[in-house]
Amino acid sequence: MGNTVAVVGGGYGGAALANALDADFDVVLVDPKDAFVHTVAALRGLVDEDWSRRIYFGFDGLLRRGRHVRDRAVAVDEHGVTTARGLRLDADYVVLATGSSYPYPAKQHDDDAAAARDRHAATRAALAGAERVLLLGAGPVGLELAGEITERWPGRRVVLVDPADDVLGGRYLPELRATLREQLSERGVEFVFGSALDAEPPVPFGVRRPFTVHTRAGVRVDADLWFRCYGVSPLSDMLGGALAAARRSDGHVEVDEHLRVPGAPNVFAIGDVTAVPEPKRSKAASEHAAVVAENIAALAAGRKPERVYRPGGEAVLVPLGSTGGASQVPGPDGPVVLGPAETVRHKGGDLLVGRYAELFGSGEPVAG
Ligand SMILES: Cc1cc2nc3c(=O)[nH]c(=O)nc-3n(C[C@H](O)[C@H](O)[C@H](O)COP(=O)(O)OP(=O)(O)OC[C@H]3O[C@@H](n4cnc5c(N)ncnc54)[C@H](O)[C@@H]3O)c2cc1C
Repeated sequence: MGNTVAVVGGGYGGAALANALDADFDVVLVDPKDAFVHTVAALRGLVDEDWSRRIYFGFDGLLRRGRHVRDRAVAVDEHGVTTARGLRLDADYVVLATGSSYPYPAKQHDDDAAAARDRHAATRAALAGAERVLLLGAGPVGLELAGEITERWPGRRVVLVDPADDVLGGRYLPELRATLREQLSERGVEFVFGSALDAEPPVPFGVRRPFTVHTRAGVRVDADLWFRCYGVSPLSDMLGGALAAARRSDGHVEVDEHLRVPGAPNVFAIGDVTAVPEPKRSKAASEHAAVVAENIAALAAGRKPERVYRPGGEAVLVPLGSTGGASQVPGPDGPVVLGPAETVRHKGGDLLVGRYAELFGSGEPVAG
């Protein structure tokens, strides 16, 4: 067997894996974007121009030997990748790391970092002039966005609507939900729980234009701008050949304990796209990458893959701007709730930017 590894997707999992294998394999990283997007800091980038320059890292700094093919995979099978431009990339090992889609602004839909940054700037200008902002969904993204908006524009009226009866869909410890509710209420954020809207707002998301909506329970909300803060969806529809059978009806891809796609000994999947039963997180995607790097090295050396991945426990970190927030993490005697100071220390302060500046070599984020 040869030495070529096709990594499809250069997000948290794919970038880490491509980097780990670069010295010993011929790595081809396929991604239509010109830069890695540090999604964890995307919402800070939305409200803060300085931050919007800090969340893109050009792929150039990631690989010394390998190459980045700037194209979208439209078909992935056990022998390689076919791209939207009609390129066929044959490979000895294939790793699916295509992640998931999420409505803007939590995830970027532009493949050019410059265009993505311009879109953030336009949305920021719309937000700056909007007195009332409606956020649909009080999960981690809705809460984090409410925190960023109220830190950047104190006193801005933000209303979070969610069909569940509490933030985070009622999941996690009650203390966690209580402190997040309290911190946001102190900033003037309002919650409308227990009922979804009876119809989508009559204005496109992110556009500033006054509108009125009602929940099914009859609560009226007036706003100038809205965003959808729910709707994550794994990106796996390019799987073909024998791999298609590993794709579940929800789009997640089955993997075994070595993160190998069943029935395809040379194909792995990592990150959000997998059906690994754990919260979908960048940290998990990076850990998957380390496991798969070892297992591909074992296969290339003629051994069986030995490194096993154990799903991570429930954990959530919700920064509310650069000073607030709360988290739930595993502790020695069960889950524990961390307050604003510790959440800021873990995530809120630099939003983990330093870690990715290091991975991408330059130490300096690439501004699109
Ligand atoms: C607002 C927000 C905040 C978050 N905060 C945290 C946090 O604090 N901590 C944490 O652990 N997690 C956090 N997450 C979750 C985290 O972002 C995801 O778990 C992580 O992005 C998953 O990494 P991934 O490598 O699987 O996929 P992604 O990061 O989604 O990367 C996938 C890559 O694949 C590429 N791609 C997609 N389709 C194709 C194709 N057909 N061909 C080629 N390339 C393709 C994309 O362009 C992209 O570059 C947050 C998510 C959001 C939205």
